[in-house]
Amino acid sequence: MLETSRRWRREGHTIGLVPTMGALHAGHMSLVKRACEDNSKVVVSIFVNPIQFGPGEDLERYPTSPERDLELLEQAGVSAVYRPAAAVMYPPGEATRVSVGGVANVLEGAARPGHFEGVATVVAKLFSATAPDRAYFGQKDAQQVAVVKRLAADLDTGIEVCVCPTVREADGLALSSRNAYLGPEERRAAACLSAALRRAAWAYSEGERDPASLKAGIVQTLAAEPLARLDYAELVDPQTFKPPGTVAVLAVRIGKTRLIDNHDLAHAFPG
Ligand code: AMP
Repeated sequence: MLETSRRWRREGHTIGLVPTMGALHAGHMSLVKRACEDNSKVVVSIFVNPIQFGPGEDLERYPTSPERDLELLEQAGVSAVYRPAAAVMYPPGEATRVSVGGVANVLEGAARPGHFEGVATVVAKLFSATAPDRAYFGQKDAQQVAVVKRLAADLDTGIEVCVCPTVREADGLALSSRNAYLGPEERRAAACLSAALRRAAWAYSEGERDPASLKAGIVQTLAAEPLARLDYAELVDPQTFKPPGTVAVLAVRIGKTRLIDNHDLAHAFPG
């Protein structure tokens, strides 16, 4: 991939990278669209990164749809799809990991030990393999955005990290490949995440500023859904992911499926 990128660079192109784990949906495609608007060449990577999954997580059953993914990306007009095999990314003898401190250690980082080290390592490798000018990430994974921005700055990559808004279903559920795990009842119940964020954004817009009250409203909305079990709900700063801040972040289990969502309460909730 690097040779192709170098040639494009010599030819005067700008390169956008969209890292994904495949099973593409409209959320992914919004990143691709934006990358195509901003750059003359766009690379989409599809790689289900084993080292960002913890033991007992869903690596083995993570959804894939390779033919459909390629069809969607061809229609979107991307320049290249980078689909390395796991044995190419992590050949025998490889021994390097990228560890981001601070923001990577709290909330998702604390709930999923090793997750952000896996993410940071694969993102650093994708940056090296594709040498982009810009890389595109979704606000849906807000803490991942903060980790990647930290990494891009701290490793002097010169790569611009571009963040795209969360694409949602009509009932507010953030699109996610993991939504495919939800049964019909669970799918209905999953709307409680966005309902909780919407309620908190409304309270904030009405002048509520007490983090405990805002959080209590979120917890109450989630508690009203019998199929939901709260993992965490916090109001944090978007750079450090520590309180105080206006970004409400949630992790909720619906049955066996763990979903995350977030919203900056200083902005109206969409829809
Ligand atoms: P994934 O394949 O889940 O690793 O996601 C690849 C990229 O798509 C990440 O930057 C995600 O944040 C982004 N993404 C996933 N879901 C959405 C969504 N609903 N809206 C916007 N971006 C998303």
